[in-house]
Formats: sequence, C-alpha cells, structure tokens
Amino acid sequence: MNWERHEMLLADLEALLEKADSKKIQGDFLKKIINRLGELSDDCRECTRLLDELHEHIKAILEKNGQPEATEYKRHREIINRAIAHLQKEHNLVTEDYYLGLYMSLGIAFGLMFGTLILGNLAWGMPIGLLLGVVLGSAKDADTKKKGHTI
Ligand SMILES: [Zn+2]
Repeated sequence: MNWERHEMLLADLEALLEKADSKKIQGDFLKKIINRLGELSDDCRECTRLLDELHEHIKAILEKNGQPEATEYKRHREIINRAIAHLQKEHNLVTEDYYLGLYMSLGIAFGLMFGTLILGNLAWGMPIGLLLGVVLGSAKDADTKKKGHTI
C-alpha cells in the first residue's frame, strides 16, 4: 500500500473526528474500512479507487468544518455501503454480527414453516427458529472474527 497517502488519509480522518459527530459519520467503523481497503489496495484497483474517493469526501467535509450537509451525509452512507459491498463480494469479508442478522431472519422463516407443517402451530416454531438462528449466527460470527474475515 502507498503508506504516505494512507497516513495522510488517516490524519485527515482524525482531524475530521475531532470536529464532526463521530457517531453520525460512523467514525470507528470508517477507520476499520479504511484500514482494510489500505491492506488490500496493493492488489486491488477498486480498493484504491474507494480509498481515493473516501479521502476526497473526507476533505470536502473538513472544508465545511466537519459539519456535513444532508446531501453529504447521504453520500457518506453511500460510499460506506459501496465499500462494504465490495469488501464482501471481492474479498470475502463481512461486517460484525453479519451472520447473526442473517441466521436470525432465516431461523424465523424456517421456524414459521416448521411450526406450521410439523408442529401444526405457527406460534411455536418461531421462537425455536429464532433461538437456533441466534445460537448458530453468533457462533459463525465468532468463527469469522477468529479467522480475521471481519471488516
Ligand atoms: Zn478490493
């Protein structure tokens, strides 16, 4: 990775975090994304492109004294979502608690089906499915994190 450029980006991000509402701009998560993109940017042009785009965007908010307008917030979320989608699709990385959310909804869907078809009671299947989803999803998230595949 281009360290000098990456350092400059991180310095601008720190400057932004001092001025802006860190929660609103997802400061901690943004840092993780930027570090991941940085690690991967040597072999991936899209990661490099996303980093450049993020840097331009951060500079733009800095120029407004860290007070982004509604359109910039929208763009902010949009870039982050695009970065997540890219990391997920091309680099097999997932966000924290990704599988928990996924397995919970799958668990509920299967639970409802299972409850209706086998137990003859829609209401019983759902909590069982949800519980299984939480247990399996959390285990999968923990395993993914252990393997270093979490953004
Ligand atoms: Zn990439």
